[in-house]
Amino acid sequence: MNPQGCDNRVRIVHPETIDQAVRALGRKGVALGGGTVVSRWVSEGTLPTCEALVDLGRIPALRGIRSHDGRFVIGAMTALSALSQCGGALADAAVAIGNPNIRHGGTVGGNIAGRFPGADLHAAALVLDAGVGVADSSSERTIPIERFLEVGLGSGELITELRFVDDPKYRTGYSKVGWRKASAKTIVAVAASFAFEGGVIQSPRIAVSGIAKSARRTPRAETLLQGSAPRAEVIAAVAREASQELPLEIREEPSGAGHVERSETGRGGSHEARFAEGERGKSEPSEQYRRAVVADELEQLLARLAGGAQKVAR
Ligand SMILES: Cc1cc2nc3c(=O)[nH]c(=O)nc-3n(C[C@H](O)[C@H](O)[C@H](O)COP(=O)(O)OP(=O)(O)OC[C@H]3O[C@@H](n4cnc5c(N)ncnc54)[C@H](O)[C@@H]3O)c2cc1C
Repeated sequence: MNPQGCDNRVRIVHPETIDQAVRALGRKGVALGGGTVVSRWVSEGTLPTCEALVDLGRIPALRGIRSHDGRFVIGAMTALSALSQCGGALADAAVAIGNPNIRHGGTVGGNIAGRFPGADLHAAALVLDAGVGVADSSSERTIPIERFLEVGLGSGELITELRFVDDPKYRTGYSKVGWRKASAKTIVAVAASFAFEGGVIQSPRIAVSGIAKSARRTPRAETLLQGSAPRAEVIAAVAREASQELPLEIREEPSGAGHVERSETGRGGSHEARFAEGERGKSEPSEQYRRAVVADELEQLLARLAGGAQKVAR
C-alpha cells in the first residue's frame, strides 16, 4: 500500500509488436512510454484502474527518427532529447520540456498523448501540420494533429509515430514562458512557421498554448500575416491579433493580475516568469497577463524567424 492507502502493485506486460500492444491495451491496459508521468501515478496511487501497464519499450517499430522522401517520421518511443536533430519548432519545443531527466526519459508519444494545456510538442506539431499515427486492433491511420487535439485517443488506441513534411523553405520556431527555466509549468507558449518567398511571408501557421484548453492555431492572425513583408508593425499587429483570438478556457484567478513579472533567461527555448516579491505561488496569472505575454513572445519569435529582430524593416 502507498501512503494514500491504494495498492500500487501493477502487472506489466512487454509486447514486442504493435499488434500485441494494441491487444493488451484493448484488455484494459494503460500504455507505458518512458514512464515519467505513469511512474508518478503508480507511486502516488493515482494510476487509472487497469489490468496491466503495457510497456512499449520493446517494440522496434516505435523507435527512432527516419527522414525520407521529404518527410520526418518520428517513432512514438523516441526520447524527447533526440528531437534536437529535427531542428526548428520541434527541437525548440523539446528543449523547453522539464529538465534533462525528463527529456531523456520522456517520449514523443507520451507527450503527444498528454491531455494538459501546456504539453510542449502540441503547438510545435500544429505549425508543422503534423500527423499522428494511431493504431488500434483493427487499423493503423494518420490523424491530423489539429483533429487529434480535439478528439484525443480512444480506449485501446496507441500512438505509433508523429510525421510531418520536412520542407527546407519553411522557417519554424517555438518559444515558451514558464515559472522557471527548468521543470517549469507552461504559462504560455507560441509556435510559428512560414515560407519566405519574394520578400513576403507565405503559408504562415501560428499556434498558441496557455489560453485555450489545448494548443490551437490562430487563423485570423495567419490571414493577416499571409503575403505581407515582415515589417515590424505588421509583426506586432499579427502578434496582437493572435494574443486576442482564442477564448480563455484556462481557469483564471483574478487576484494574480498586476502581480506578475517576467524575466528574460534566454531565447528560443524556455523563459522564466515570476510573481513580484511575496506574490509567488499565490495564484494563476491573469488573462490579461497571459495575452500580453503571448503578444510579446510571438512578436519576438516572428521577428527571429523573419531574419532577426534587428533586420526587420522598420
Ligand atoms: C518534473 C516533470 C516536468 C515535466 N515538464 C514538462 C514540460 O515542461 N513540458 C511538457 O510538455 N511535459 C512535461 N512533463 C510531462 C511529461 O514528462 C512529458 O510530457 C513526457 O513527454 C511524457 O512522456 P513519457 O513517455 O514519460 O509518458 P508516460 O509517463 O509513459 O505516459 C504518459 C501518458 O501517455 C500515455 N502514453 C505514453 N506513450 C503512449 C503511446 N505511444 N500511445 C498512447 N499513449 C501513450 C500513457 O498511457 C500515459 O497516459 C513533465 C513531467 C515531470 C514529471
